[in-house]
Amino acid sequence: MLLDTAVKDRATRAAAFIEELADAGLHKHVTQPVACAKGCSHCCTTYVISSLPEIFRLARALRGKAGVTARIREAANRSKSMPQLQREIDRVICPILEDHACSEYPHRPVICRAVLSTSLPSCIRFFEHGGTEKFMFPDNLGAWRSYLVIMLRAALVLAGLPYQNYELTHALDVVLARGDAEERWLAGEPVFAEVAMDRLDLEASPLSKIVEGLAGAVRPTI
Ligand code: SF4
Repeated sequence: MLLDTAVKDRATRAAAFIEELADAGLHKHVTQPVACAKGCSHCCTTYVISSLPEIFRLARALRGKAGVTARIREAANRSKSMPQLQREIDRVICPILEDHACSEYPHRPVICRAVLSTSLPSCIRFFEHGGTEKFMFPDNLGAWRSYLVIMLRAALVLAGLPYQNYELTHALDVVLARGDAEERWLAGEPVFAEVAMDRLDLEASPLSKIVEGLAGAVRPTI
């Protein structure tokens, strides 16, 4: 998909494909009961990062919605002036949240889909009171998330595109402010030069080695 340069929105389409895989695979991989339910939004107040294809996909769903667009601008201005570590500590409500539910639930990034918990009290301690205990993820959730992240990242590497994650609200604000952001990014322009990259992507990690390894294995077959 990402290699088909005739398709101007191929990053958005790749993210839509990841959404399908995520929806299809979650319940196969994660069978343990979770405490999460509509109306519970403790986790939607933390620092959120996302891949750029997912941000293009989400922006498409949000375009033309004036209220949420204005909230995203406000949140972006706030997050720009706050270091990531501070933002992880301070509780900033995601601008996409409405009535304690994600207003773009079908298009939320993989990172949001992967915050599932088996314990509400533990979640509250973790997010609302800055607890330091281990987060109560269900079994296999990490593996399910890793499959999706590694697959998308390897595809981006094979297409010669950057795969790093960026702060959600500022990146969304950039995309919503200019209709051609995806085309320009696909053409190699530094559209997100001012947006904070996830600190975990600032240096090589075990994940980046796996991504490079997968891309290297697949490259001769395409
Ligand atoms: S995008 Fe949706 S799920 Fe993710 S933090 Fe925002 S409101 Fe919550």
